[in-house]
Amino acid sequence: MKPQAGDADIARVREKIEALGFHAHVIPGEQRTAIGITGNSGPIDPAEFEDLPGVAEAIRVSKPYKLVSRETKPDNTVVAVNGVRVGAGKPVFCGGPCAVESREQILESARAVKAAGGQLLRGGAYKPRTSPYSFQGLGEAGLRHLADAREETGLGIVTEAVDVETFDLVERYADCVQIGARNMQNFSLLRRAGRSRKPVLLKRGMSSTLEEFLMAAEYILAEGNYNVILCERGVRTFADHTRNTLDLSVVPAVQSLSHLPIIVDPSHGTGKRDKVLPLSLAAVAVGASGLIVEVHPQPDHALSDGYQSLDPAQFAELTAACRAVAEVLAEKRFSARELH
Ligand code: PEP
Ligand code: MN
Repeated sequence: MKPQAGDADIARVREKIEALGFHAHVIPGEQRTAIGITGNSGPIDPAEFEDLPGVAEAIRVSKPYKLVSRETKPDNTVVAVNGVRVGAGKPVFCGGPCAVESREQILESARAVKAAGGQLLRGGAYKPRTSPYSFQGLGEAGLRHLADAREETGLGIVTEAVDVETFDLVERYADCVQIGARNMQNFSLLRRAGRSRKPVLLKRGMSSTLEEFLMAAEYILAEGNYNVILCERGVRTFADHTRNTLDLSVVPAVQSLSHLPIIVDPSHGTGKRDKVLPLSLAAVAVGASGLIVEVHPQPDHALSDGYQSLDPAQFAELTAACRAVAEVLAEKRFSARELH
């Protein structure tokens, strides 16, 4: 739609799409609204829409992922999580432990994240663990502790939903619901996330291609939730000097194909504490919209992922260094988008 298109113009287009028996997806943007059409089995003549008031252009989307595609929505999507704007230019910092272990542990983590200038708090109350005998998370008690941490610090909460059964509960407490790498192609869970009114952080599967990643996001948008943040967290390769291989090249690749913001998880991406700072700097330099980093008050005593968790001082060093990199990039008016 044109920037000056009004609600009535948008409603007219929506009604026309629905009258033709298709689904209309009204995706609001900072400048312009995009309206996606799904549910059609064959091509639709763009001329059907081009003459309606407020319509800038009608385009046929060639990609298999429709709503996620930049063809559908040329402008970047900004996702607000508890008021924090992800994808608006400045990198957003989300920190916190792998898992919520106790009320004190998450409160201490939250204070550290806040003191370091972080804006969002992470922490799993439900953990997808490789072994069924490993710590699985505190469940609802963990969610309550996260809510207490938000109450005290004002930080928005990012926490994972591992299945459809517990989604309702997680959604009630979370400001942003994380879908983990192992669940990236859990299509019923993606559909459930698509019916949520909370933003979703979708992590890339550890062996997924870019197209599979974008198609997973498409499941969420297709159900009507357009607030999706993508996250690169490393993929499996033959390399064994790190836990995963952080694929930073996917950041500009996503940015050219999709309007959705993408952030980077250098903690799971490397699996090693001493690699987290350098890869965070690289992630900001490559144009990521933010970082999600594991931070623990006492990493060596963490119940999960301690070897890749930073202590509070290391996280403070990370946010300061990354902000310095971001400032240089802003000064040079150098953004990943401008390179395409
Ligand atoms: C996590 O964020 O702690 C996590 C389990 O991440 P991933 O799904 O990327 O492995
Ligand atoms: Mn973890």
